Amino acid sequence: MIQTVFDILSIRKDFPILNRKVNGYPLVYLDNAATSQTPKKVIDTIVDYYSNYNANIHRGVHSLSQEATDVYEQARQKIQRHFNAARPQEIIFTSGTTHGINLVANGFTSLLEKGDEIIVSALEHHSNIVPWQMLCERTGAVLKVIPMNLEGQLVMGEYHKLLSQRTKLVFCNHVSNALGTINPIEEIIAAAHKVGAAVLIDGAQAAPHIKADVQKLDVDFYVVSAHKMCGPTGVGMLYGKEEWLNKLPPYQGGGEMIAEVTFEKTTYAELPHKFEAGTPNICGGIAFGAALDYMNAIGFDAIAQYEQELLEYATQELLAIDGLKIYGDTKEKTAVISFNIEGLHPYDIGSILDKLGVAVRTGHHCAQPIMDFYKIPGTVRASFSFYNTKEEVDILVSSVRRAKTMLL
Ligand code: PMP
Repeated sequence: MIQTVFDILSIRKDFPILNRKVNGYPLVYLDNAATSQTPKKVIDTIVDYYSNYNANIHRGVHSLSQEATDVYEQARQKIQRHFNAARPQEIIFTSGTTHGINLVANGFTSLLEKGDEIIVSALEHHSNIVPWQMLCERTGAVLKVIPMNLEGQLVMGEYHKLLSQRTKLVFCNHVSNALGTINPIEEIIAAAHKVGAAVLIDGAQAAPHIKADVQKLDVDFYVVSAHKMCGPTGVGMLYGKEEWLNKLPPYQGGGEMIAEVTFEKTTYAELPHKFEAGTPNICGGIAFGAALDYMNAIGFDAIAQYEQELLEYATQELLAIDGLKIYGDTKEKTAVISFNIEGLHPYDIGSILDKLGVAVRTGHHCAQPIMDFYKIPGTVRASFSFYNTKEEVDILVSSVRRAKTMLL
């Protein structure tokens, strides 16, 4: 059944790193939720930029600068089209998801009052918790939490009860990095809007698997990191509705983000430049565009279908191991399996898997509240991408069995 959607062997050839060995074994890379691997087309784009048209953008009169500016702005348009934003100026280049969230959290400092309420979900990554706690410290706003259940889903009834006229902002991830749960963001957004609250969706873990349509979702802010979707590190995007981005003050001051500067008064540039102070990650932005081209050429429907098949197979095979427990038991999830084996520490399992060439994540996955909920120190997390194979799942499973025999 698996491998019917596309030619997996030809896809694997696009990723040079998949040929390497780790500790003498062929690499089995299952840490895609932390960062994905980079296809040759994206690597070539980076080499081409530095070999042929490296220059600072937006200011230069010379040809190289104009060329770099054009390609960078084309990348912004590719991102706009991919997420179906209404206008390119609603796409702000950031250094990644964390930067995008902090930009919005900082902007709301002047828009909140003491006693206003902010809602986050229990399934968040620390980068979608801490900036809001800092915002609460600055403003006197109060943080409320949508609880989760044992299956790793949000308890939506409780969410609806938390909403009131005092709610000003709601933050939730589209997909949980620790468990893979796909959250019902359509319902979350619509209910928040009914009480007049703005919504930020952290799309870091959704973007590699699901093509979000920000207009259809009617979301106010959506943030992603390129490095989780075949792009380079150090670049990402913040989508914001134009009306919201106009209301928020700039995050950082500097070059690029001004209209006019005198010592008496500075006026700010129009969107998107108002939020893009200083020389941006030009090459990164361009390579982000190339990564989207690459993934769209394969197609997100095909990617989702294939990854779901891998997920089902891996879940079934792992559950056949005695004492293995998977956290996040919901049908609506991406290809992430967080598990533990009774009596074993996740770190020990991860270390043995590494000796066998299998790369997984161990620990709290920057989501300590979820681990506290399950009363565990952490999990082993295997996260799959469209370039992983059924054979790699088999290697994972046999390596986990081997680790269990060695450790118990
Ligand atoms: N949110 C989620 C759900 C994530 O998985 C991550 C990365 N693990 C982040 C935010 C932070 O992304 P970045 O480190 O690229 O800023």
